[in-house]
Amino acid sequence: MSKFISCSASYKEAKIVLFGAPFDGTATFRSGSRFAPAQIRTDSYALEDYSPYFDKEIKECSIYDALDLELPFGNTKKVLNQIGRFAKKIIKDNKKPLMIGGEHLITLPVVEELFKEYKDLCIIHFDAHTDLRKEYLGEKLSHSTVMYKCWELLGDNKIFQFGIRSGTKQEFLWANEGHTFLNKFNFDNLDKIKEIIGNRPVYFTLDLDVLDPSVLPGTGTPEPAGVTFKELIEALKTINGLNIVGADVVELCPHYDLSGISTAAACKAIRETLCIL
Ligand code: MN
Ligand code: MN
Repeated sequence: MSKFISCSASYKEAKIVLFGAPFDGTATFRSGSRFAPAQIRTDSYALEDYSPYFDKEIKECSIYDALDLELPFGNTKKVLNQIGRFAKKIIKDNKKPLMIGGEHLITLPVVEELFKEYKDLCIIHFDAHTDLRKEYLGEKLSHSTVMYKCWELLGDNKIFQFGIRSGTKQEFLWANEGHTFLNKFNFDNLDKIKEIIGNRPVYFTLDLDVLDPSVLPGTGTPEPAGVTFKELIEALKTINGLNIVGADVVELCPHYDLSGISTAAACKAIRETLCIL
């Protein structure tokens, strides 16, 4: 398997460790995000390693690509444990994890490990979906419960959600009871939350379905009326400079978009995310 473009540092010298977590075991609609990390690496060679948005070459960013974890697909708990163990090693070695999904549930074990290190950890969450269900068909571990699980850990006012346009009424009401900062539809309040977060450590999780399906149709649960890629870039520029201690990019299902545009968008989103780490 080829590495993501320009991730040429050794593990020892790297400041960032990129790795794939190809798990889609709890997908509620269309599965297939397990194929994303491999497709992203292959298609990353269509991308320049220079970001004109951040005026940065990612080969300067000191990144090691650890390739994909080998995960036992049928066993959610084992999968999460394995991801957590790998994240723990990266954090212990004083490096930042950049995880490529896979579905959104994989965020949870990385957040758990970072929370052990940083008790004031915040999360910036870009997504079409609230992901605040307490359970889905009786299942507490699901990509639709992942932000609720993170809230159980971090507590009130630590999770900042943007681009949200889908969820149950109950989830929206619950968020607005002071549990999370839920911003509907767009990134309008993003510069305000920079002040609120200040110097605190931040985990950034990018569910690619925040993008409009015309930009990224290749995803498990496409949701119309999303943001444009330009708006996403502007949002990344806004959060640049925060104390970001880890990130992930999740929910690409490459096989639902045979044109390859969705994977191209994912590759570019990853390049720009590497620039803000
Ligand atoms: Mn999500
Ligand atoms: Mn989503």
